[in-house]
Amino acid sequence: MLENKRILFVEDSPTMRRIIANSLRQLGVKDFEEAENGLDALEKLHESEFDLLMTDWNMPEMNGAELVEQVRKLERFKNLPILMVTTRGMEEDVLKAIQLGVNGYIVKPFTPEILSNKLNDLFQNS
Ligand SMILES: [Mg+2]
Repeated sequence: MLENKRILFVEDSPTMRRIIANSLRQLGVKDFEEAENGLDALEKLHESEFDLLMTDWNMPEMNGAELVEQVRKLERFKNLPILMVTTRGMEEDVLKAIQLGVNGYIVKPFTPEILSNKLNDLFQNS
């Protein structure tokens, strides 16, 4: 199911980008793009079509919460599944992210299995 999905992931840490890219490949995702922060992600979202947006929270320029807020304001992305992947594990953070419109939440560090379960859940419900 994951092999024909196109994913945009947003992450400011190069090391974490490498880990996420490897995890996605391991799960059979072949079609993904990377963005370094929220602004970069917004540009890429406008340039092509994606089946899912995965985003970190803490990032320079535009953080993940701001990105989700911007994305949900746009009619075109109202139903785009969004998965937040962050070190922020406080209950209030999770609640805020859900209020902003994310569909799933993963606290770092994560295993490929956790990522796999979340992605499959999100694609089943979208
Ligand atoms: Mg970060």
